[in-house]
Amino acid sequence: MTLAVESIAPLRGRDDESIIYGLDIGGTKIEIGVFTHELQLLDSWRTPTPTSSYSEFIQTIGNLVIEANSRYANNAIIGIGMPGIIDKSGLVKSANVPCATGKNINADLNNILKCNISIGNDCRLFALSESVGGAGDGYKRVYGAIIGTGAAGGFCLDGQLYNGRSGFAGEYGHLPVSAFLIDKYNLPLKTCGCGLTACYEAYVSGPGLGWIYQHFGAQTPDTFHFVQQLNAGDEIATAAFKCYMDLLGASFTSLILSYDPDVIVVGGGVSKITQVIESLPYYINKHLFSGVECPPIKKAKYGDSSGVRGAAILRKQLSDN
Ligand SMILES: [Zn+2]
Repeated sequence: MTLAVESIAPLRGRDDESIIYGLDIGGTKIEIGVFTHELQLLDSWRTPTPTSSYSEFIQTIGNLVIEANSRYANNAIIGIGMPGIIDKSGLVKSANVPCATGKNINADLNNILKCNISIGNDCRLFALSESVGGAGDGYKRVYGAIIGTGAAGGFCLDGQLYNGRSGFAGEYGHLPVSAFLIDKYNLPLKTCGCGLTACYEAYVSGPGLGWIYQHFGAQTPDTFHFVQQLNAGDEIATAAFKCYMDLLGASFTSLILSYDPDVIVVGGGVSKITQVIESLPYYINKHLFSGVECPPIKKAKYGDSSGVRGAAILRKQLSDN
């Protein structure tokens, strides 16, 4: 009994930087993860994301940290991941939390919490999480790609995130689908959420997969239905799968030619479809010129918890350096 008390009590009320909070801000929920400096997850919980009131949004994040402080530490260091393009000062240029667009979250949280916070794009932090202790651990050059609501990723070199000049290095989903594939599958030119036309994301994201399924004649864009039908050998699902994989393979070719990674780690909802991961190397190689082989493709180790973990790693690296 004494052992159990001792194992918890020293964590409460700490006033040092040995505890890290990683926050993952999504369009519907905000999750906080409490980590040790060695990245062991001690605790995590969630709360709904306020999307219309910015002051409520900032206060909700502040309250999560205050609650964590009351349980674990007085002066933990904090990393935050969220969708959108975030510049070095913490200014959010575009996000799926409408009230946060154009705001400097870093400065506004500083006013409440009086501490330095690291903020990064959630897809980039997925790559960082998989590069440090994840499925890409031990590889020098790691590309982490998420295929879910959107299609984006990030590149890490020696366990450090490569952000580029403006913070959007890794956005493979906003390159245009090749004219060859548009013509081959008779695809309408879809408008992407970013404002451009015929971006890969509009076709290879989770919603894109559902759209392709319907394009081939299915009555529903439901991806669970698609997987059921694919497993049953249905003709429409099989044709949609081949088209989808051709597009996904081509989109990954662009990131291979740009970053030449040693491994690609794939996460997000679509990565849970076994056939996608298994056949991806074949469909990538179809689009690579001869003599170039696709690197190993691995499924993410941390999955849904990569957001809070990547945010914690981002802040830890700043503190360690
Ligand atoms: Zn786009």
